[in-house]
Amino acid sequence: MDRRDFLKRAGAGILIASASRRLRAQQLNDIHVIGKLQGGDANVLALPTDDGFVLVDSGAPRSGDKLMDALRPNAKVQALFNTHYHIDQTGNNEMFGVSGAKIIAHEHTRQWMSTDYWVPDEDRYEKARPRAAHPTETFQTTGTLKAGTEQIDYGHLPLAHTDGDIYVFFKTSNVLAVGDIASPLRDPALDWFTGAWIGGRLDAMDRILGLANEQTKIVPAYGPFMTRAEFKAERDMMEEVRSRVWKQTLQGDGPKDMLEAGVLKGLPRTWKDPYKFLYDVAKGMVAHHNKLDPSVV
Ligand SMILES: [Zn+2]
Repeated sequence: MDRRDFLKRAGAGILIASASRRLRAQQLNDIHVIGKLQGGDANVLALPTDDGFVLVDSGAPRSGDKLMDALRPNAKVQALFNTHYHIDQTGNNEMFGVSGAKIIAHEHTRQWMSTDYWVPDEDRYEKARPRAAHPTETFQTTGTLKAGTEQIDYGHLPLAHTDGDIYVFFKTSNVLAVGDIASPLRDPALDWFTGAWIGGRLDAMDRILGLANEQTKIVPAYGPFMTRAEFKAERDMMEEVRSRVWKQTLQGDGPKDMLEAGVLKGLPRTWKDPYKFLYDVAKGMVAHHNKLDPSVV
């Protein structure tokens, strides 16, 4: 699917519920995507059950009130998954943590959130999050959760966007949350300083394709849900980028050379900041070169 179609769908506002009206009409085991709570906000998935909501991601900071409005009148949350440590996905963790929700995430996500760390792109430290925001239940590989009649499987997607990305698969409803592994609207990002790289991203995308069928609704961190075919198209485009950038890396080119050589030309999407994307990709390529080609020394 090309970018224009995505934007058309996002703009139509059909696929992302604009919060409370849809949620009031909720039915058990009907999953709602709450997006665009304020300009450009990340998606939050909400599964209502008799024991409270199961959420995937808690939204960006300062969107808490709107998020609570969307969940009312039964605003109890029993469990919250974080697809990774970024603030857009964990911004309201404190609010749910103090009211007793279990916060489930990969162990690396907990580690990033519980310590100060350096953000190289922005040349600054990010402070550790308050304790109430930290994940309370972490895992390394996979896990399952039964919520009402919903079977939820979740698992690690190593080095795809950060080092702690996970999918959350609502199997009964056939809804698969993938966080920033899919980027139909925003530029794909790779936190290379965590070890994330384009090869990890492709492995993760293949794993998602293995879990999904033609009816699965794949929910990215931003934008409307994607079909398996749409997700596959993004994966194939990413493979083309990997192949082109790898050729340039072998010639000793950096991101500026890659951009000038037109490695992103003719692809079925555009980038807002192509240099930043290529910088992240190139950094990751160099860090993982030993996995790619023995001729590189
Ligand atoms: Zn992210």
